[in-house]
Amino acid sequence: MRRGLYLGRFQPYHLGHHEVLKQIAMEVDEIIIGIGSAQKSHEIENPFTAGERVLMVSNALIDFDTKHYVIPIEDIQRNSLWVSHVKSMVPPFEIAYTNNPLVIELLSEAEIRVKQSPLFRRFDYSGTEIRRRMLAGEKWEHFVPESVAEIIRGIDGENRLKTIAQSDQE
Ligand code: NAD
Repeated sequence: MRRGLYLGRFQPYHLGHHEVLKQIAMEVDEIIIGIGSAQKSHEIENPFTAGERVLMVSNALIDFDTKHYVIPIEDIQRNSLWVSHVKSMVPPFEIAYTNNPLVIELLSEAEIRVKQSPLFRRFDYSGTEIRRRMLAGEKWEHFVPESVAEIIRGIDGENRLKTIAQSDQE
């Protein structure tokens, strides 16, 4: 049994994340998707709650053949203890997939095998770009799985982001 951890904030979950997960599925038996910064929401860079992000990932993976777990993980104040914190929240895993330099460093120091994943259409499939488009009233739906677009529409995510941005300027 080989279990892999894929960690991200998923603000929101997009087609780049989706491609990576399809590739990871070819390499491991089970996947743990860790929803990072679980405590954050209603911020310009983190508009969606952990629960909304769990739903986005779970619904996008509904037809996925590989067994997976979607687990929210809150940030902690001490980077040096973060890997132990993650390990305490998720099933045991043998390999982690990430491109985040801090995450790579912390996992490597804890002697966990890390694999970097290729970036797909990195300028389009990007949380920053999708949030920018939402704020600008531009099309963003084609950068996320249809099930994720439905969730964001259902919670009126675009307007949430616009409202948060207004209160930030005051
Ligand atoms: P993210 O959602 O920005 O990215 C998730 C992964 O998807 C990354 O590996 C990224 O490279 C990849 N990705 C993005 N666009 C892609 C594309 N187009 N194609 C393919 N892959 C793409 O999340 P993140 O910032 O990497 O998440 C790390 C989490 O770990 C954060 O929540 C952070 O707060 C948390 N963390 C916490 C601590 C602490 O609490 N002390 C320490 C380290 C990290």
